[in-house]
Amino acid sequence: MSVLLERFAGSPLFPIAVKVAEGRRLSFDDGVALFTSSDVLGVGALANFVRERRHGNTGYYNVNRYLNPTNLCWVDCALCAWARKPGVDGGYTMSIEEAVAESAAGWHDGITELHIVGGLHPSLPYSWYLDLLRALKARFPGVHLKAWTMVELDWIARVGKRDVVDVIRDLKAAGMDSCPGGGAEIFEKRVRDLICRDKISGERWLEVARLCHENGVRTNVTMLYGSVETVEDRVDHLVRIRELQDETAGFLGFIPLAFHPEETQLPHLPPATGLTDLKVIAVARLMLDNVEHVKAYWVQIGEKLAPVALHFGADDLVGTVTEETITHAAGAKTESGLSRAEMERMIRGAGREPFERDAFYERVGRDASGRVLRANRHDFAAALAPAPAGSSRHPSSLDAALASS
Ligand code: SF4
Repeated sequence: MSVLLERFAGSPLFPIAVKVAEGRRLSFDDGVALFTSSDVLGVGALANFVRERRHGNTGYYNVNRYLNPTNLCWVDCALCAWARKPGVDGGYTMSIEEAVAESAAGWHDGITELHIVGGLHPSLPYSWYLDLLRALKARFPGVHLKAWTMVELDWIARVGKRDVVDVIRDLKAAGMDSCPGGGAEIFEKRVRDLICRDKISGERWLEVARLCHENGVRTNVTMLYGSVETVEDRVDHLVRIRELQDETAGFLGFIPLAFHPEETQLPHLPPATGLTDLKVIAVARLMLDNVEHVKAYWVQIGEKLAPVALHFGADDLVGTVTEETITHAAGAKTESGLSRAEMERMIRGAGREPFERDAFYERVGRDASGRVLRANRHDFAAALAPAPAGSSRHPSSLDAALASS
């Protein structure tokens, strides 16, 4: 018997350990059993086995910058502490020039990726989304633009009165290289009705992701845990991701997001514990046998727990993320960004070997001064298989112009 299986001799997790050792797919019931097991270290050991089988001792990260061009949003998600309604204090919308200037603030750090998400702005025109990407691509031609969640793509299609496939093609032509995974929350309707009632359904989120993949745009996928979902809801979410990934192979990575209740409409909910954080990462690693990367988002789970997660199934600590605002609006106490050296220190502290990656997990080379030698130059459509068929966070003149138009 292997060392792994010896660890589980006599344990209720033994049948699952056998499947893991043999590389067999876990069932829905296996997922529930893992979540409800009191043997958190055992669940972590299984996930670590899978993680090391896939990625050895490597700990990935990238050097990215967040761009949130507007926090105005007509949707009123109970989970959200960040968005503002038009006319409310703290709302902002950047002009194209302001957004480019904001992005340039991280240029000296040698960023290789811009992570672009915002609110569902009630009146920005379709052309604004295209113009923003074109302007960013023109200013930062070597930087990967990871732009717009499935929720935003659906909204941009409604704004433009276009089919979402046409929108994906237009945005791709304008410079969108891949998409972030936000807005997935928990796919199950009962949960969505409580935490994000007016957001697109889980089914629509998956449909838009499928259309991205089918049109040569790879995406990420998240799961928001720690609000009102059950263990079964989490497993259902993971299984639905796995099913779509079987068909499209379009998900780059899975990012579990801990719900931060402060300043949301659900402040009475307790924040997720560290054990829950680790267990979600571990179960995701075990259930998502066709998703290459499981990320531990240090901004959310903290700089002390994130390196531990590299031994509970995660292989990637996301990025330097200068400058995170969304989770911090909900009370996150972590830094709003880290340097490359700090990311590498965190990974080495876990006994893993740091690997600076681009958006497609290719190594990023730098010269002695830190200048990027090589970054994302991929044709994502060709790579995808199988393919069926200065801060401007204040109300800007743009908002005033839109309001009066
Ligand atoms: S979570 Fe997204 S869609 Fe919901 S209110 Fe916040 S910004 Fe808007």
